Amino acid sequence: MSEFYVTTTVSKETNTYVVHKDDCSELPVVEELKYLGSYASSEAAFKAATGYFDPVSCCPTCIKEAYPSGVFEYSAEKEEAAV
Ligand SMILES: [Zn+2]
Repeated sequence: MSEFYVTTTVSKETNTYVVHKDDCSELPVVEELKYLGSYASSEAAFKAATGYFDPVSCCPTCIKEAYPSGVFEYSAEKEEAAV
């Protein structure tokens, strides 16, 4: 399990709120972060963040597995599959 945070202001580079792991070298100051909780996967943390903010992307430093797109697409795929 890892602990995750999401920024409370949008990134100037991507115009998205950014999900980070707590051990990220690029983690912003705590005043600019909302604690998401402890999750087994970055994907679960990303999904939780989308419940608070929109749009959300993952940090390219600590959540490399979300790249190249920067987001986990599975929720959209599930909705499509249900149609
Ligand atoms: Zn990060």
